[in-house]
Amino acid sequence: MSESTDTQELASLTTSLRRHLQRRERVGIRFLPKGDLPRETTTVSSDANLMAGTEGNLFSDSSAVYEAKTLEELRAAIGDCRRCKLWSGRTHLVFGVGNPKAKLMFVGEGPGRDEDLQGEPFVGRAGQLLTDIITKGMGLRREDVYIANVVKCRPPENRNPEPDEVASCEPFLKKQIDLVKPAIIVALGKFAVQTLLQSKVPITRLRGQWHSYHGIKLMPTLHPAYLLRNPADKKLVWDDIKKVMKELSGESA
Ligand code: SF4
Repeated sequence: MSESTDTQELASLTTSLRRHLQRRERVGIRFLPKGDLPRETTTVSSDANLMAGTEGNLFSDSSAVYEAKTLEELRAAIGDCRRCKLWSGRTHLVFGVGNPKAKLMFVGEGPGRDEDLQGEPFVGRAGQLLTDIITKGMGLRREDVYIANVVKCRPPENRNPEPDEVASCEPFLKKQIDLVKPAIIVALGKFAVQTLLQSKVPITRLRGQWHSYHGIKLMPTLHPAYLLRNPADKKLVWDDIKKVMKELSGESA
């Protein structure tokens, strides 16, 4: 390869890297994804205000995302998001659904095929199972709780979201949690649990125990899609959900 070709290639790579970093900085991301770093703790900061310290860090001061006062404003600020590569395969950006002041929030991994087509989280077969847990198990209505995912656009072939995709999208979830202010979060499945708790500990060891996500009680449990494949483990989820119901009844007492 000639020296001039090398120089052109280097210039092209430098331009690509500069644009990538500028795109990340535009959404306020100034750190490398933590997804690859092993963490043993299952308590993510005891700070009651989970957006504290993120101003000028996760979001620039002028960011409409950071400044959103309602979920509607946040959704508008996210807009036709192209902050990570998942945008290119989506039909709908699946923001979240439910009571904007819910005491109980469910967090899953990301939209699947049905969710991508309908623009709403947990509406496929796994979603029906979650709805059954909420309605038949807990005696609540789906519209009483808030449901969201770690990433808002469907990963191709339902693969796990990649660290850069999580780094780009997680601030939206963080802001959703900050706006809804749930008393309890139920994290569904390994990916949501490990992302929210910044932990590599297997979900089999995390589930069924209370953890803290910025001062909010967090209960990890198994994902409904896993339960469709392993129905015998529904009992484990029911054990976890009973703990959530007990805590919820204390919250409303
Ligand atoms: S997954 Fe999140 S960050 Fe990526 S394009 Fe969709 S909304 Fe934007």
